[in-house]
Amino acid sequence: MANLSPLLKQATPVVVDYALGSIVRGTDGRDYLDFTTGIGVTSTGHCHPRVVAAAREQVGKIIHAQYTTIMHRPLLELTEKLGEVLPPGLDSVFYANSGSEAVEAAIRLARMATGRPNIVVFQGGFHGRTVAAASLTTAGTRFSAGFSPLMGGVHMAPFPYAYRYGLDEASAVALALRELDYLFVTRTAPEDTAAFLIEPVLGDGGYLPTPPAFMEGLRERADRYQIQLIFDEVQAGVGRTGKFWGHQHSSAFPDILVTAKGIASGFPISAIAAPEQTMSKGWPGSQGGTYGGNAVAAAAAVATLEVIENEGLVDNARQRGQQLGEALEPLRDRFAFIGDVRGLGLMQGIEFTAADGTPDAASAAAVQSETTRQGLLTLTCGPVGNVVRLIPALNVTDSEIALGVERFTAAVEVVAE
Ligand code: PMP
Repeated sequence: MANLSPLLKQATPVVVDYALGSIVRGTDGRDYLDFTTGIGVTSTGHCHPRVVAAAREQVGKIIHAQYTTIMHRPLLELTEKLGEVLPPGLDSVFYANSGSEAVEAAIRLARMATGRPNIVVFQGGFHGRTVAAASLTTAGTRFSAGFSPLMGGVHMAPFPYAYRYGLDEASAVALALRELDYLFVTRTAPEDTAAFLIEPVLGDGGYLPTPPAFMEGLRERADRYQIQLIFDEVQAGVGRTGKFWGHQHSSAFPDILVTAKGIASGFPISAIAAPEQTMSKGWPGSQGGTYGGNAVAAAAAVATLEVIENEGLVDNARQRGQQLGEALEPLRDRFAFIGDVRGLGLMQGIEFTAADGTPDAASAAAVQSETTRQGLLTLTCGPVGNVVRLIPALNVTDSEIALGVERFTAAVEVVAE
């Protein structure tokens, strides 16, 4: 007799029987509208027929070739397909399994490429749970408490969180860039700094779009000091924000891009992309792994990219995201405990705040669990968990968005009573 570990914290009591598109059928016989997508992973919806077919076909050919032993066709095809969407110049791709592993690969590469030790991260960033990735994560002490010492060489700069600081966006950006420049004279000199690591939209840290001017300010400093600019697109990438990459809402571009989650509709695969010139600063064999770039996951990723392209899902994410954001916006005026409604595309966050302006995690938790009762699956995020996040599939329909908003509003009404 064994039970699942209590180390897991369950966001909903739902046990899935099967799922299709945006609908999850529970073993309780209920249909739930899924606005969690496995934390932004099932980008083409659950079990998209083309992804299922591609995976099934690949399982019958080879499941595990091991990319440093036998190369396989799906990984070559995926690399070619990624080449169509990667930012210009990022022509070399390394594969792993999870977001955390890919973030670590990016950090290793940045250190090897620059010969410098330090990484600058931004407050509220989430980059994963392995010890090194947790060392880079500042989205909540719950991701690192109790297992220090963490990896060294990580320095945190402020994030331009305009709402929290009660500033307009331009002032928040100016303040955060000033503090970053101050960090260079107080803590990590530019010549000791290998990389900036930032999400184009803070994910687990609160669903906060990074202001374009901040992204551009980082690009400018990266150029000035030859610091590698790493964009962690694990959650914001692959169409989620209404552009293929989250950073494309600004004119900034990365030196290293990290992707995972939505790239394979649920199969575990992740990647980093960088110019060949950067990758060749590491030695062959300096990165690798048993399962990285798995053949079935790679075949599913190719199918996912094809579905996104053929079904116009980046455009759909933009339109449905706009619909969702506009429908949620009035809730801010209607309910005193909703302090902010924000997001980009299908990455929308509703921040709950007490009358004195402090974060209201209890209300966010109550709304999140009430949405399940209303038939809508949601998650919370933010350092103290006071943000409810909605992450629908990229192929969500307008009627599903309308239904989701109806159920979300009903949940808020119940908690507000
Ligand atoms: N980076 C970001 C931006 C993420 O959202 C996540 C996962 N939530 C990770 C890294 C870590 O990915 P994984 O859980 O696959 O290790």
